[in-house]
Amino acid sequence: MTSPQELIKAAQAAGRKALDERSGKALLAAHGVRVPRTVVVPGAKDLKAAAELTYPVVVKVVSPDILHKSDAGGVAVGLKNAAEVAAAIERMAQQPAIQAARVEGYLVEEMAPAGQELVIGGLIDPQFGPLVMVGLGGIFVEVLADVAFRICPIERIDAEEMLDELKGAAVLKGARGRPAASREAIIDVLLKVGGANGVLVQHPEIKEADINPLIVSADSAVAVDARFIIG
Ligand code: ADP
Ligand code: MG
Repeated sequence: MTSPQELIKAAQAAGRKALDERSGKALLAAHGVRVPRTVVVPGAKDLKAAAELTYPVVVKVVSPDILHKSDAGGVAVGLKNAAEVAAAIERMAQQPAIQAARVEGYLVEEMAPAGQELVIGGLIDPQFGPLVMVGLGGIFVEVLADVAFRICPIERIDAEEMLDELKGAAVLKGARGRPAASREAIIDVLLKVGGANGVLVQHPEIKEADINPLIVSADSAVAVDARFIIG
């Protein structure tokens, strides 16, 4: 497994301002955060690397020019076999936003267990240094800005308080047909990102972190999208 330092150095050497999604997930995995099994294939006609995955899978376009893959038509979930994967890649390759971009391949990954979508992120405050953030996904973050921040490094009690601060915290217990989300699993990821041995404190090259979403079921939390801006 490539170390986080090597992943960051390789991106810097390539003149990149961000880790690609697979490298971002490898960095999280090295810190003990669960990520889906992920491979990258060159195109619809060469799916060999995906043979080791268990269906259903997700396909995502890999491009340094595309920040929001769904907006570009570059995400397909719930694909049940290789034929569906090939068809999804062919469809993506026809999307105008994808045709206009430098495409480095297509990421194929296993589906995370169903759960609630949260966001865990980080940024550097000029005065206080790294900050870690958590919010409930979707409209909770985007419309209601229901998020909690702390200065790193955080300890367990801080992670607990961050979750309690969220106005939507009750949703985590399961409501309106949503499954309950493991509070323990969320706290664990918060510590792995914002704790003393966490991603933000250990790697000062990381200027911004965005796990969006972290999919949290009753007993697991899986980071299915990860973006790290490096300086
Ligand atoms: P982007 O944010 O660039 O549009 P994401 O990688 O976040 O793309 O994927 C978009 C959405 O697809 C996610 O918010 C999530 O709902 C779903 N998704 C992505 N990857 C997985 C996965 N491995 N398992 C289950 N759902 C996924
Ligand atoms: Mg995302």
